[in-house]
Amino acid sequence: MKLGYSMLLGEYIEAKVVEYGDCTQFQIVCPYCKEPVFKVIRDASQELHYLAHYNKSKAYIAECDLRLSGITNEHIRQADWFSRDQRIKFFLGALRSMFEEAQISSEDLRKNLSACKVSQKSKILKFMRELSHRHAKDIFKQNIDLAKESIDCWIEEYNEFAEVPLKTGFSIGVQKRIAMDFWEHILSANARDSFDYLYNHAYHNAINRISASQKARELKRWEYDLANYMIKLRQASLNQGYSMMDEMKEYPVVRDNGRKSLLHIMNAEITHEMIGLLTTLPYLEWLKKGSTDKKMEAANRL
Ligand SMILES: [Zn+2]
Repeated sequence: MKLGYSMLLGEYIEAKVVEYGDCTQFQIVCPYCKEPVFKVIRDASQELHYLAHYNKSKAYIAECDLRLSGITNEHIRQADWFSRDQRIKFFLGALRSMFEEAQISSEDLRKNLSACKVSQKSKILKFMRELSHRHAKDIFKQNIDLAKESIDCWIEEYNEFAEVPLKTGFSIGVQKRIAMDFWEHILSANARDSFDYLYNHAYHNAINRISASQKARELKRWEYDLANYMIKLRQASLNQGYSMMDEMKEYPVVRDNGRKSLLHIMNAEITHEMIGLLTTLPYLEWLKKGSTDKKMEAANRL
């Protein structure tokens, strides 16, 4: 495709002005499906520049290319193109780097990462991530506004309980726009690792949030049970996990004038945390740091 979309800049960018490292640096995705893309120069003598999806076998990619520029899979399959060392791992690594830089202390980060490692290995959490991914995708397709409302609700809640109001690199309006773009992006198939990464951290945060509330007020019975279930689920076998999920499905909670199951509440809390994390990431700092890295790289080449 001739055109990419930078989630960090919120702009459409022409393939010919994109340099090899820019897709990671500016988080450039397919404008149509929000999958990661990489820069290709086909036929160096003619200098045909374009952006390509990483996974070339899926039908929807042909659809994106047709919609966007008329470049077909046949073009992409041809061998005379150059893409240097651009890997999806690096592209998705940007979100992780931003997340890790945002941690208050290295001690917090260490605890976070080790809890997430356990979640990543857990078979029952793998099953729950799958359900949650599918559910989030369906909801996003049906109603984009729900994700927007969810961001507003997260910010409102943050400001209500925090000692100082939420501080972000970009203005809050820009942070919200980027969070929406990233949310759509991590629901795409090729960004699945990012979804899982964020889910695991959100899971950990949701447990921490309940134990932090415990210091300020008396927990409700269901909050206490929810935290316990979540801690136990992480260590449970697949069968133990399934029966815990069944119990949670049958556990009624009356909240915000509605009756929901504990399982439903757990999923809603995790999504809420994921959206919150995306709203607070240091996007501006990442962009600034990248331009410093680039300048240093250029200086080293001189
Ligand atoms: Zn696409």
